[in-house]
Amino acid sequence: MNAPRNDQQQPRTVRGPSARRVAFDVLRAVQVDDAYANLLLPTRIRRAALSPRDAGFATELTYGTIRMIGRYDAIVEAASGRRVANIEADVLDVMRLGVHQLLALRTPTHAAVSATVELAREVGAHRATGFVNAVMRKVAARTPEEWDAEVTRGLSGDDLLATRWSHPAWVVASLRDALAAERSRDEIVALLAADDVAPRVQLAALPGLATEADVAEVTRALAPTTEPAGDDHAARVEPPVGTAVTDAPAADVDPTADALPVSPVGIRGVTGDPARVPGVAAGRLRVQDEGSQLAALALSRSSAVRAGERWLDLCAGPGGKAALLAAEAAQAGATLVANELVPARAGLVRTALAGFGDTVTVVEGDGRRYGQDGSGVTYDRVLLDAPCTGLGALRRRPEARWRKLPEDVHELAALQEELLDAAVRVLAPGGTLAYVTCSPHLAETRGQVDALMRRHGDVLEQLDTAGVVRSVAARDPQVADGPTAQLWPHRIGTDAMFIALFRRV
Ligand code: SAM
Repeated sequence: MNAPRNDQQQPRTVRGPSARRVAFDVLRAVQVDDAYANLLLPTRIRRAALSPRDAGFATELTYGTIRMIGRYDAIVEAASGRRVANIEADVLDVMRLGVHQLLALRTPTHAAVSATVELAREVGAHRATGFVNAVMRKVAARTPEEWDAEVTRGLSGDDLLATRWSHPAWVVASLRDALAAERSRDEIVALLAADDVAPRVQLAALPGLATEADVAEVTRALAPTTEPAGDDHAARVEPPVGTAVTDAPAADVDPTADALPVSPVGIRGVTGDPARVPGVAAGRLRVQDEGSQLAALALSRSSAVRAGERWLDLCAGPGGKAALLAAEAAQAGATLVANELVPARAGLVRTALAGFGDTVTVVEGDGRRYGQDGSGVTYDRVLLDAPCTGLGALRRRPEARWRKLPEDVHELAALQEELLDAAVRVLAPGGTLAYVTCSPHLAETRGQVDALMRRHGDVLEQLDTAGVVRSVAARDPQVADGPTAQLWPHRIGTDAMFIALFRRV
């Protein structure tokens, strides 16, 4: 029933789902079930028993298409003459995947068009195959640049950037405002482009645990590979004469991947599955964005640690920064309490901190309760890595940009404010507070800091966070001077982490 037209004698049932079918199913689930692509895709790839090569293709196809939905929908509308709202959802997703193959992966036209039509048939959209075929041929007839010119004609400002770089317009405006707050006006395109690129894995070598042999093993086991992320179907189909077949996908090349790490404990520029590395499996090396590493180290290294210091990570799940803080604490004779609200995430924190023995205590509960039990317990260093919109990590979470809404900002800002008050309540005299978000949205960053100083300026002083981050970093983190530090993916290849340090006077 689902067999290709010219392949009636060899039923497809002998094969598992193709890479394209896996990508389609995940794309559907992300929209229909609010699934997270990064959680669902690996399961589907395993279930389909895809080869490493096809797994790479399915991954690129899924993540790349989800990131580019806004841009591709504009192209589908222009090519089909129909609003995407009037196209059946299954058919639209099939075409989105087809557009990605044609414009980003440069899959040969014949292969991309025929595979897209075949996929439409496979998912039950038999009656739409003619439509899909016509739209795909039209898309294939122009270059990506020509399509961008076509779909942005008549647009200006944030609307133009939103369509071209596939971000919601309110997100573009928020990012532009955040850059403008540092008097940077001409970086918005670079930032949006960085969001559209899949980041390479970055690792943290936990101080006191990771050995030189661990680091050497990473370099050996995860050396950059030249193997193309290919596709069996594309490989089987002869490209039309004169069509160049590129080895690697044109999309998703992380320009910062080969730069030196910006974190003193960071490792970057590697590819492959980190779980294969013994040091990662043993927890001595951890997959962690280098911006997150700098945020944790800005707290632990902002001043000399006295033995016996008590540290608190107020919102610790899933435990990335807590693990780095625990390693730092263990070396200096401090202890760490890691608190998390969501039980399942607290479980992840326990796993992350399993090797640290008495140095750490993991507790479950609402961070806003701190300082309200009358116990008088205080902490010398407090990390509030606050729940936030995550607008600084869009490159890492393909669907996030389409899920967040402007109203989320206000809700989260209110929670951040309450958590900050709790953090101040339990901050010991002379103690240091690090307020951190993986969002550069001003309402979650500078706005929070200003409001915090209005509420608690009598007991808090702001530290030279930019200076601390520079002193901690392995190379220039390219942060603007001042009492807060905003990291940027397009500058240094990290998530757009925001860090603000305070001392209780
Ligand atoms: N620090 C973590 C890491 O590096 O792995 C990331 C923290 S994440 C940005 C924010 C965390 O805060 C989430 O795990 C979320 O479940 C938790 N959270 C949300 N509301 C909370 C609350 N009221 N009290 C404590 N934790 C909360």
